[in-house]
Amino acid sequence: MDNANKNRKNEDSGRLDFIRAIVSEDLRTGKWDGRVVTRFPPEPNGYLHIGHAKSICLNFGIAAEFGGRCHLRFDDTNPEKEEQEYVDSIIEDVRWLGWDWGEHLYFGSDYFEKMYEYAVRLIEKGKAYVCDLNAEQTREYRGTLTRPGKDSPYRSRTVEENLDLFERMRKGEFPDGSRTLRAKIDMAHPNLNMRDPVMYRIVHADHHRTGDKWCIYPMYDWAHGLEDSIEQVTHSICTLEFENHRPLYDWFLDELGAYHPQQIEFARLNLTYTVMSKRKLLRLVQAGHVSGWDDPRMPTICGLRRRGYSPQAIREFARRIGVNKFNSTVGIALLEHCLREDLNRTSPRVMAVLRPLKVVIDNYPEAKVIELQAVNNPEDPAAGTRKVPFSRELYIEREDFMEEPPKKFFRLAPGREVRLRYAYFVKCVDAVKDADGNIVELHCTYDPATRGGDAPDGRKVKATLHWVSAQHALDAEVRLYDNLFTKENPDEVGDGGDFAANLNPNSLEVLKSCKVEPSLAGAEPLSRFQFERLGYFCADPDSAKERPIFNRTVTLRDTWARIQKAQELG
Ligand code: ATP
Ligand code: MG
Repeated sequence: MDNANKNRKNEDSGRLDFIRAIVSEDLRTGKWDGRVVTRFPPEPNGYLHIGHAKSICLNFGIAAEFGGRCHLRFDDTNPEKEEQEYVDSIIEDVRWLGWDWGEHLYFGSDYFEKMYEYAVRLIEKGKAYVCDLNAEQTREYRGTLTRPGKDSPYRSRTVEENLDLFERMRKGEFPDGSRTLRAKIDMAHPNLNMRDPVMYRIVHADHHRTGDKWCIYPMYDWAHGLEDSIEQVTHSICTLEFENHRPLYDWFLDELGAYHPQQIEFARLNLTYTVMSKRKLLRLVQAGHVSGWDDPRMPTICGLRRRGYSPQAIREFARRIGVNKFNSTVGIALLEHCLREDLNRTSPRVMAVLRPLKVVIDNYPEAKVIELQAVNNPEDPAAGTRKVPFSRELYIEREDFMEEPPKKFFRLAPGREVRLRYAYFVKCVDAVKDADGNIVELHCTYDPATRGGDAPDGRKVKATLHWVSAQHALDAEVRLYDNLFTKENPDEVGDGGDFAANLNPNSLEVLKSCKVEPSLAGAEPLSRFQFERLGYFCADPDSAKERPIFNRTVTLRDTWARIQKAQELG
């Protein structure tokens, strides 16, 4: 969190982060003839998450700020794990975040033919060979960090033999895993990635775009640099774990004499109380720990969207965390802080009662209904006002009443007076109980002279409660979400356990008998509101018109603001 703060300071004082500094310097020196071309290269084997959003905002943001362009490119070189469903969701999510790639939508698989030609070129140069070692043998021959590798017995095949075998690999003459094409670099290289890395493997599997056209598929390191090169990318920005793949990225492009972008690495985003690995997210979905990729507790973009996050909040978060070279973990409180800031500015206020307690105003006429004027958003005068019906029978929040209030409880209690928001002062005169002693109904009196404001005689109340009119209220379901994991670092587990052991059993609470004000009838799916005094909520896409469902996006408590204040004071 310290880093996030520091980065923000840098940026707010106008200093560029280290990647933007490189791009800016390259523009000054004319290194790329004034071009800035970045790309966001997801593999379509899962849904995008908030970590990807960091990379998306970085790549698209740089392109936008420096007058360049950013490609959306699917790195779809692994047919076994990839699906069209993921392609579609990725396109939807990047667009929802507000970025635009124009006509620059690309697929690595569209370059398979070119990649093949490049591979033939390396073979002809004597820089690649077909190897018959199986996966296990290949691993054994590679050696370790402390022990050099051994040359494959197939390393000295002639160019002709390699060309012939590679062509026959492509034609499908050999079974899966029986042969590979490998770069001929150095089996004693201190960097293991340089020990004759595999470029192609045989996989007889259908690809979601190329069908059965290919049965050899390029490995990541071989494919990725070529994709960047073919698209004439200038700055190939990736996460830190690729730092020691860079020599290989450079080696391939140098040996081919191909256009050669600059690879730059930055630290990936980690966030407290959640996991970010696609493998783990997939497990949560498959094991039914969540309702799907878009479960509002998921750190996926579609999950955040369904939870009620706005693209603006996510982009602001990405801006504040900045980029650097050191892996760290950002507190989820910062993400929620950015969210609250945005929602506070933009969400209409409404009244909703989550755990209703009936209130009868004894001195209010039975059939009388009046409409009170309520402010839609005090932060945004243009949002205007709306009418809220008031009548003799209301609901208030169960926890806003206590029969025997402790010292600091200022809300309703027997004999006590409070204000009903936008309405009147009411005083509790009786609490009705059922046979078990549970309070089922309150009786109050109201003071007609206090409508919409203060008492003319100057008497004060210590609390203002939200409420809804019983006969006008809409029944609603409200889903309260909490962190998906109980630990800041869900991967912190005891012997033999795994991250699933840290799942929060209370991450979802469903309230089925909520009452919300009538203006919420037909709320657009994904529209966001502040339920006064309760938090921010968003209409779930599964809502029915007569019975809406709301997801709690976030409470009103801003722990980040508190942390920041404490830091300033300390
Ligand atoms: P994997 O490669 O294990 O399937 P991945 O999360 O790296 O998972 P990609 O589809 O390769 O998935 O990611 C696309 C881009 O997003 C890459 O450039 C990657 O570096 C970046 N990215 C992924 N996770 C993060 C993260 N947590 N923070 C920042 N960038 C990320
Ligand atoms: Mg990756």
